[in-house]
Amino acid sequence: MSKRIELSVPNLNIEILENLRECIETGWVSTGGRFIAEFEQKMASYVGVKEAVSTQSGTAGLHLALNVLGVAPGDEVIVPTLTFIAAVNPVRYVGAEPIFMDCDDYFCIDANKLERFCKEECKLENNKLINRLTGRTISAVVVVHVFGNLANMSKIMDIAKRYHLKILEDATEALGSYYVGGRYKGCFAGTVGDIGVYSFNANKIITTGGGGMVVSRNKTYIDKVKYLSLTAKDDPLFFIHNEVGYNYRMLNLQAALGVSQIAELEEFIKIKHRNYERYVQRLSGVNGLSILPFSSDIRSNYWFYSLLIEEQIVGVSRDKLMEALIAQEIQCRPVWKLVHTQKPYQRCQAYDLEKAYRYETQILNVPCSTSLNLEDVDFVCDKILKYSNG
Ligand SMILES: *Cc1c(COP(=O)(O)O)cnc(C)c1O
Repeated sequence: MSKRIELSVPNLNIEILENLRECIETGWVSTGGRFIAEFEQKMASYVGVKEAVSTQSGTAGLHLALNVLGVAPGDEVIVPTLTFIAAVNPVRYVGAEPIFMDCDDYFCIDANKLERFCKEECKLENNKLINRLTGRTISAVVVVHVFGNLANMSKIMDIAKRYHLKILEDATEALGSYYVGGRYKGCFAGTVGDIGVYSFNANKIITTGGGGMVVSRNKTYIDKVKYLSLTAKDDPLFFIHNEVGYNYRMLNLQAALGVSQIAELEEFIKIKHRNYERYVQRLSGVNGLSILPFSSDIRSNYWFYSLLIEEQIVGVSRDKLMEALIAQEIQCRPVWKLVHTQKPYQRCQAYDLEKAYRYETQILNVPCSTSLNLEDVDFVCDKILKYSNG
């Protein structure tokens, strides 16, 4: 018997065809049309902000965000190394250099090390944070809320204030996660820092095929992102452009998927939570295996599940287990290769990395698609148990 179990695939309601039909019949298939405004408004109200601006992708949103935050060529930007490379590339797009930081127990940027770095390796001059090693200005931090976890934003916002840093939240993996305690109780991922960015790529919790959304409580930022995403057009009739803009606006076709998907988001989170609990229940008693927890002071969206494999105890390596599962048509993958070890970034500064290295070799992401039922999860767990017992 072979049945393919996918890691994280789209879950699309066939009723979306109605929306697509409308786009096609009316000809509104491009960067104008009613679904764009509707999707932006629905996203804004879901995460609890006034306004949201859509983009072609999460990456495009991050690029525009760094731009409007004023990150200048020659600046430096602090980023995590344990993340998808798309969180880092936009730093280079704006001509800045990344500095790589370690992660905490929930895969997110280590706020304590961030603070120590600012205090011990940098100095403040004219309200600017200067990196002692390079003499360059550090202007921002990209905080990635990895796998549906949330970074320690209360600490990070304190650091940002003290050291004059802008905070860009890459919330592409954490749409729907929010704090249930602490200073930011009730605040959704992406709404605490200066700007937040979401993604609707096919593997994210909701999808528009490809797409992104930018939120901020600062109206100036929002207006600027929108302006830049529409080629910085100052006069639509006479084609006056007073800045170098981009063609980054979401298509009505994409937004037509978005308005349907966002209506299902809470249901998807329920399914993800249910399946996550099943993995925990089935695998938690096994020595050397653990499905890592999400932080207890958040309501997570449970986007990705992380199986930690301690080879010395289980007797099988992460990669061997992964190969065995893939051979059984169970799609799974190792956590990302650390970004500071990727070719374009090998010469960059990396600060006191430790946990990131451990997770890099020990974590396997196991199937979390919202189309999976409990039997599917049991099937995956049975195989994991079989192969981890030698
Ligand atoms: C998916 C993702 C992105 C990029 O989003 P796209 O919409 O694919 O451009 C950026 N950062 C992280 C952490 C992601 O997981």
